[in-house]
Amino acid sequence: MLNESMIRDIKLAPQGRLKIEWVENHMPVLSLLKKQFISEKPFAGKRIAVCLHLEAKTAYLAKVLQSGGAEVAVTASNPLSTQDDVVAALVEEGIRAYAWYGASPEEYEAHLNKVLDFQPDLIIDDGGDLVALLHRTRQTEAGKVIGGCEETTTGVLRLKALEREKKLLFPMVAVNDALSKYLFDNRYGTGQSVWDGINRSTNLVVAGKNVVVVGYGWCGKGVALRAKGLGAKVIVCEIDPIRANEALMDGYQVMPLAEAAPLGDFFITVTGNRDVIRKEHFALMKDQAILANAGHFDVEISKTDLAQYAVGRRKVRQNVEEFRLPDGRRIYLLAEGRLVNLAAGDGHPAEIMDLSFALQAYSLLFILENREKLEAKLYRVPDSIDRKVARLRLEALGIKIDTLTLEQETYLKTWQLDN
Ligand code: NAD
Ligand code: SAH
Repeated sequence: MLNESMIRDIKLAPQGRLKIEWVENHMPVLSLLKKQFISEKPFAGKRIAVCLHLEAKTAYLAKVLQSGGAEVAVTASNPLSTQDDVVAALVEEGIRAYAWYGASPEEYEAHLNKVLDFQPDLIIDDGGDLVALLHRTRQTEAGKVIGGCEETTTGVLRLKALEREKKLLFPMVAVNDALSKYLFDNRYGTGQSVWDGINRSTNLVVAGKNVVVVGYGWCGKGVALRAKGLGAKVIVCEIDPIRANEALMDGYQVMPLAEAAPLGDFFITVTGNRDVIRKEHFALMKDQAILANAGHFDVEISKTDLAQYAVGRRKVRQNVEEFRLPDGRRIYLLAEGRLVNLAAGDGHPAEIMDLSFALQAYSLLFILENREKLEAKLYRVPDSIDRKVARLRLEALGIKIDTLTLEQETYLKTWQLDN
């Protein structure tokens, strides 16, 4: 596969293999699927394009799909989360790979195009970059695509926009919107891995500090919860009154960002929006405030404003850039404002990605098995798959739960409650 790939260095493969081996041991649901796939070969003759963060858990998903008979090609969903050793290990396993750490925007797009050149039947996307490129520049090739799955909140928003404009060209499944996805991945996965990324980069104490979480969606809830657990005083900024109420009742202070700006020691954006922290906020911040983003793209913290406002900038630690403001205050931006948990860490833990990626694999099967019925629409993950993944995870952990008695089932279905 080396000839067909674009990677940094195949000699890194042994280290990548060890990383994949480590996560395999903590992804029991995917391992179960792998066994099933090896015997049933549901993807025989099919080509699957995967555009996800290229680190060990994604690599294991790619291998599991390959064990189901698919030819697999992978590319990155973020240029800073690619681990070159993992990518090299995948190529050794016979998987085409087009990605390297730190790819420029041009290289990144070239890599996406290479995966589309592979003419996939099925697609896994994360944030919508691959599917958007196909819809923008290569519509004529969409006919071969049976369907695809989207991993994250922002990607689902993009698909909804395509569907609204009646431009979606094949069925897509919103994996992000499954309960077994966002309740665990977005909340607990982001909650833990964001602090992992921040702690690795800064090596500073969190206890007693003011942490400002901007956006109290599923990711924001996790980031705030873990900040509280680390001993921080948490402030939440929101634009949605319901989520602002949730934050209040979860025990946090709620205020506009302009009021939180002078108070925060750490600021974390998780909105999926743009220019959320901008010049008017930088102007109010304390000396040595630390800024990190965990939402979809590197536009949540306005890097343009920061660059224009600063009179000097330098890299002070791995993944930490200092911006010196005209009055001498310093602001630190982590991981170039990209997802801090993936650009400055290994992303969500294996046990979390086990759930998300089992949903991905089952959803691809669902598309394949229902290809005649599905239209060019955005579909939810069927409830049966959602529950199956949750059940398999409990089984893998050896945890049993109760079941309804027949009387209880009947009771829950009746409107006559007097007998
Ligand atoms: P969500 O829709 O549940 O939450 C986003 C929240 O941000 C909403 O409550 C919204 O009201 C709020 N918001 C929007 N604009 C705002 C603004 N200007 N100021 C304050 N609040 C604002 O979405 P989510 O599932 O929490 O995902 C958030 C982002 O994180 C998305 O871009 C998603 O793709 C990404 N994501 C990242 C990771 C990761 O590993 N870092 C994991 C999952 C999702
Ligand atoms: N293109 C986007 C990708 C969105 S990232 C970007 O700019 O980076 C958000 C998604 O990353 C989440 O939905 C989560 O499922 C996924 N993720 C988090 N940790 C991961 C990991 N360790 N491996 C692969 N994907 C991961």
